[in-house]
Amino acid sequence: MNRFEPNLRIPGPTSLPDAVREAGARQMVNHRGPEFAVLQNRVIDRLKAFYKTQNDVLIVTAAGTGGLESAIVSFLSPGDKILAVTIGAFGDRFAKIATVYGADVTKLAFEWGKAADPAKARDALRAGGPWKAVLLTQNETSTAITNPIEELAKIVREVAPEALILVDAISGLGAVPFETDAWGLDVVVSGSQKAWMVAPGLSFVSVSPRAWKAAAVARMPKFYFDLAAHKTSAESGQTPWTPAVAVMFQLDVALEMMEQEGLEEIWKRHAAVGAAVRAGLTALGFKLLADSAFASDTVTGAWIPEDLDWKAFNGKLRKLGLIVAGGQGNLKGKIFRIGHLGHVTVPAILNAMAVLEQTLIELGRPVTPGAAVEAAQVAALKSLGLAK
Ligand SMILES: *Cc1c(COP(=O)(O)O)cnc(C)c1O
Repeated sequence: MNRFEPNLRIPGPTSLPDAVREAGARQMVNHRGPEFAVLQNRVIDRLKAFYKTQNDVLIVTAAGTGGLESAIVSFLSPGDKILAVTIGAFGDRFAKIATVYGADVTKLAFEWGKAADPAKARDALRAGGPWKAVLLTQNETSTAITNPIEELAKIVREVAPEALILVDAISGLGAVPFETDAWGLDVVVSGSQKAWMVAPGLSFVSVSPRAWKAAAVARMPKFYFDLAAHKTSAESGQTPWTPAVAVMFQLDVALEMMEQEGLEEIWKRHAAVGAAVRAGLTALGFKLLADSAFASDTVTGAWIPEDLDWKAFNGKLRKLGLIVAGGQGNLKGKIFRIGHLGHVTVPAILNAMAVLEQTLIELGRPVTPGAAVEAAQVAALKSLGLAK
């Protein structure tokens, strides 16, 4: 047991506000009864505001990956031509799900640490097709990059106007600017344990009228993840299968908090926190993984220097309560990642920077006490327009 209050800084599950945690302890209700229907309808209305959409939003009891799977099986058929734009491990996963279900997937992969290049996406769209769907990742958690989704979606509409645009927005939606309808996105997936400050267990999926048209003729095998069944149930305030009721209680409270803070304020807070982490890590001598023009404001990745003993370093961080994430895929052992989404403030991130700084000094590295915290705070203040 660690005596110190853990500072969980991984990109999901994220730490929860106390009121959200407590909401999960409430007595169960009948998931086919009136209380649940009222709860689900309220939650869906609030999710739509954060999605910035008039489309249906459905709640699936599953990890985010289940939401992605529902997006593939509900709208597509085996043999459909799909362009999967991938910039990291989660983009690869989305492509893999489509492949497993028999889609004809063309992968457009970019170097890890870079965003998708819209010009190359245009070339790839022109070179193949006819495309049934394009898979995009809004925020690639494995490489700490936010893709230019608006630009990418515009190009898809231009070159392949009929193609469905399916977006994995699991680690960005609810934290950074996002526009489902204004950007013309057909299916957008998110997950409760990321920006939403809720325990894992629920995935959210928005569905456009164009996507529902595709659902009517989609032939991929499906049962649990059939979104058409979810839509039918949602019309009477229900879900087709027993939902994660406790997580719904939490989501209701978290969305109320988010509504009180306001979408724009939430975006500003994440921008400030992201700037702080990047400046702090840089001041500590770390090299960042992400192309700075597309650096994510919800997660930051840094290279582990060759002369830093990662095990000793991470062990000391853990003793002081700071929990960070490692690398995924071919970045395993090469980078570490700090999650900064959901229930996170600038002072909380300054604390994480202080722990990193203290730990590096204890390991004998040439770090100036206070330098990283200062750099991080100045960056946050600049982002908030409170310093020059
Ligand atoms: C976390 C995450 C997922 C997967 O979510 P699970 O809940 O672990 O299945 C998918 N895509 C992105 C971008 C993520 O950050």
